[in-house]
Amino acid sequence: MPKPKIERLALIGIGLIGSSIAHAVRAHGLVNHIAISTRSETTLARAGELKLGDSYHPDAIDAVSGADVVIISVPLGAFESVALHIKDALKPGAIVTDVASCKASVIADMGPHIPDGVHFVPGHPIAGTEHSGPDAGFATLFEGRWCVLTPPPGTNAAAIEFISELWKAMGSMVEIMEPAHHDQVLAITSHLPHLIAYSIVDTATNLEDDLRQEVIKFSASGFRDFTRIAASDPVMWRDVFLKNREAVLEILSQFTEDLTALQRAIRRGEGDKLQDVFTRTREIRRGVIDYHQE
Ligand code: NAP
Repeated sequence: MPKPKIERLALIGIGLIGSSIAHAVRAHGLVNHIAISTRSETTLARAGELKLGDSYHPDAIDAVSGADVVIISVPLGAFESVALHIKDALKPGAIVTDVASCKASVIADMGPHIPDGVHFVPGHPIAGTEHSGPDAGFATLFEGRWCVLTPPPGTNAAAIEFISELWKAMGSMVEIMEPAHHDQVLAITSHLPHLIAYSIVDTATNLEDDLRQEVIKFSASGFRDFTRIAASDPVMWRDVFLKNREAVLEILSQFTEDLTALQRAIRRGEGDKLQDVFTRTREIRRGVIDYHQE
């Protein structure tokens, strides 16, 4: 299939993900005009200074008017209000897509407000960093990473194909999934690890002052890696846990049981059990490296 070409692309939200899309579509020659809108004047002005787009709109309605593709990259809690705001300005035949980390909630929040004749193809690039805002984006963020699309039944096949080709043209590999399945998979691969990181770093924060200083000073790779993850945007992650509540709670209860089993093995001095678990987990690491997702 030839490279997709978008006449007018509207980017609503221009933080890490929105600005990375702006860089990537430009770098790969996928777009003629990028219209940008974001909530605050400061971020919009910064997007202009960074030359991320061709036009800048304080009101999202002006960005989406006449747009062939609209990509919404805002925190999970903001999708419904954005959809309600832009719905009447969407061009018939336009494709609306998103990048949010939970899919069932976005489909529930946006789906009912997408007008007939406009195609909605929910998506999630499994790529990111702990940084946020328009300065954080870069063109190669999506290269070699998966992008999961979760189109509801009956979604226009050509629209799914177009968005799929768009992500491939930005360097991603694309997989189609059921939204609930996506949310379960991400609960274990992304949401739980972030929760654990937030929790461990918070435990260190609550230590006595002198001990806390030493934790920071002698932070070996283990704790240091957790601090990187725990530096992720608080609003984005608050929304992830509010919106993917059921899947996270389910995996969290399994995790708590497994952690308790390890605690018991340590208390009882059961070295074999600990070694068994640590040997099994090495295999998972090898699998991750084989998939080039390290
Ligand atoms: P970000 O860097 O914090 O940028 C968020 C953008 O959304 C900014 O343009 C911000 O506007 C706007 N925004 C914030 N609150 C809003 C509200 N209440 N109403 C309307 N706009 C609002 O965030 P991000 O990392 O790009 O994340 C955006 C989406 O991508 C999220 O849904 C997240 O789940 C998903 N995602 C993130 C990652 C990651 O690693 N970060 C990876 C994959 C997917 P102002 O600055 O103008 O206020």
